[in-house]
Amino acid sequence: PLRLPGRERRVGDGPDFVFLMIHDQTEQKRTETLRADFVANASHELRTPLASLSGFIETLQGPARKDEVARERFLAIMAEQARRMGRLIDDLLHLSRIEMRAHIRPSALVDLGAVVRTVADGLEPLADENEVVIVRELPESGPVVRGDRDELVQVVENLAENAIKYGAAGKRVVLSCWTDRSGAQPAAIVSVRDFGPGIAPEHQPRLTERFYRVDVATSRSQRGTGLGLSIVKHILARHGGRLSIESQPGKGATFILRLDCAEAPPPAAIDGENAG
Ligand code: ADP
Repeated sequence: PLRLPGRERRVGDGPDFVFLMIHDQTEQKRTETLRADFVANASHELRTPLASLSGFIETLQGPARKDEVARERFLAIMAEQARRMGRLIDDLLHLSRIEMRAHIRPSALVDLGAVVRTVADGLEPLADENEVVIVRELPESGPVVRGDRDELVQVVENLAENAIKYGAAGKRVVLSCWTDRSGAQPAAIVSVRDFGPGIAPEHQPRLTERFYRVDVATSRSQRGTGLGLSIVKHILARHGGRLSIESQPGKGATFILRLDCAEAPPPAAIDGENAG
């Protein structure tokens, strides 16, 4: 309500109250802007390795045509750029597939502890390469959640891969899984902890944005696409799960994911127990 200040109201002054009807378009505008940004970013990310490839092709066709040594070196770089483009396209397709299914809640019974174990085993080669030891703190079985096993593998894999890549200096990555019974409903928790450089507080809220990287130079050298945590966020949203980050720069980072436990399932129905 708007009142005229500073003087008494008199008859004929006009309406006592003014109602404003505002049609809120901010959310729609925001989505449109995000989409436009996304297309611009994706194109830019693909253009960078493409420009590099074109440059090397020209060099190989011209000045380096007869230089055996240079040719081998350039071909190796070109192969890596091509792989980088491949990874980007895979991640983009993946993200768009998850988004298309965003409204469908996956409902299979999945043993989350078994998921973490599978991921830990699969990442041993990457850990060796980075001289990191993977420590497992896992229950014999469970906790059991409702979800899509492949997508949950992807979530834990992205977090654990980051911990190994970016936290390598800490030499140890701890993968834990347990049931938290402190709330109204039991929750399944996975924690991925590293002892590397950590992440400054100002970067933490932005990590799940598409293409966001804290330190572009380091992240690029670590073969990242900047889409890993964005994929994690989308999968968790579809599962009604949550991701939180605890980190003190210099002391490492802990990514914690939280999902509701499934109500007591029949053991035979659980996906993941025997799947490795
Ligand atoms: P990327 O493909 O670059 O790894 P992500 O979306 O998975 O993309 O991660 C975004 C950025 O967050 C990374 O580039 C890195 O800068 C930072 N980050 C992720 N995990 C960690 C970690 N455990 N420690 C330090 N920085 C991290």
